[in-house]
Amino acid sequence: MNYFSTRGGVEPMPFGEAVMSGLARDGGLLLPETIPDVRERLDRWADLSYRELAFEVMRLFADDLTADELRALVTQSYAGFDDPEVTPVKAVGPLHILELFHGPTLAFKDLALQFLGRLFETLLARSGSELNLLAATSGDTGSAAIQGVRGRRGIRIFVMHPRGCVSPIQERQMTTVLDDNVFNLSVAGTFDDCQGILKTLFSDLSFKDRYALGSVNSINWARVMAQVVYYFYAGLRVRRATGAAQVQFAVPTGNFGDIFAGWIARRMGLPVRRLILATNENDILARFFNSGVYARGAVHATLSPSMDIQVASNFERYLFYRVGGDSARLRELMEGFARAGRLTAPLQPDGTVDAGIAAGVGDTAATRAVIRDYYERYGYLLDPHTAVGVHVASAFLRDDTPTIALATAHPAKFSKAVHEAIGRDLAHHPALDALLELPTRCTPLPAEAGAVRDFVRAHCP
Ligand SMILES: *Cc1c(COP(=O)(O)O)cnc(C)c1O
Repeated sequence: MNYFSTRGGVEPMPFGEAVMSGLARDGGLLLPETIPDVRERLDRWADLSYRELAFEVMRLFADDLTADELRALVTQSYAGFDDPEVTPVKAVGPLHILELFHGPTLAFKDLALQFLGRLFETLLARSGSELNLLAATSGDTGSAAIQGVRGRRGIRIFVMHPRGCVSPIQERQMTTVLDDNVFNLSVAGTFDDCQGILKTLFSDLSFKDRYALGSVNSINWARVMAQVVYYFYAGLRVRRATGAAQVQFAVPTGNFGDIFAGWIARRMGLPVRRLILATNENDILARFFNSGVYARGAVHATLSPSMDIQVASNFERYLFYRVGGDSARLRELMEGFARAGRLTAPLQPDGTVDAGIAAGVGDTAATRAVIRDYYERYGYLLDPHTAVGVHVASAFLRDDTPTIALATAHPAKFSKAVHEAIGRDLAHHPALDALLELPTRCTPLPAEAGAVRDFVRAHCP
């Protein structure tokens, strides 16, 4: 399977190269040349364990790894999860909650990043080369990426986080990792500033080549690919358990990465009636799916900081398909957006923005209310990101279509918000409590691409 750029300016490349380059050299995002149709396999896939299913799904896309390599990667990647099912599904009230927080950093990003760190190591060992990962995090990507690559051979990681905009626990999950190959950068700016610096440095091709820059952000196709797995895992299980023809997924969304994996799963043939996209007050995506206009707004700090994003890095992939795979048209739209902070997508033939995606907003009051409600009624603790998804899902419940709500973080990662919502300090996890005692390491930098570039130069041979 070859990969091409949404902007049409690079030669198609195999999976391994697509993983190594992250963002394409023409500024676009990489996509597989075909999306496999797996409808014939669904009955068989419903019987597989998470690891078996991950192997089946990923081997369709990662066909330049040997079967043994891929099987080893999958087995090792999910060995550190604290639930034998990896991503268990729990029936809670009207919902099926897909718990994606059983990995080492207690957020869904572990599903992709435990895999990606090992994948990088495998690919680097083949070529005998080195890789410098540059990442921007709104909170959870950073720690998950650091855990995925700490101590791994041939890899350094530089993680920018917006100073004061990630939770204290999230910050400690990153800065308490003292391995020599891990560098935390606390940037005086917003997450969008960090993401902007990332884009600037990746488009400086001589710098990118000299320092072999790679990406762990969700612009890396391997992350999307690894996330496709749990949509199949949960969708097929819930469909079988309920006898329903279709399911729907509620997805708390920031960069459009997680939900884009669901969109791919649907396109591969998983019977998904629709995806329910949920944002917090940073609602650019909800506004888009309700109006067709994608217009940048100001970034608000909310209870769900991993979704405090106005420019969704994966949206370009979706938009590419929406303009019928026309790279010239896509480039025009993205360049217009870069200039004016606004673009308008063509409507679908049925006059909707997208009949397959329903969207809504869960604000701070709704987030608190739904956390309290699920605790009081069902004794189940939701983290604030999951609560945004659960709130928005409640407007779209249907009797004939089970709703699977993605639980993207363990409530203990956001214990303060949970405490405020339910009035009791109940959200704890021993792994997080232990972080408070550990020493930390982190470098403050201004929100300037030049400062980050200099730091990388100074810390690479
Ligand atoms: C990253 C994150 C999200 C948003 O995921 P995207 O792929 O950016 O849409 C939601 N919840 C949590 C807990 C996260 O860490």
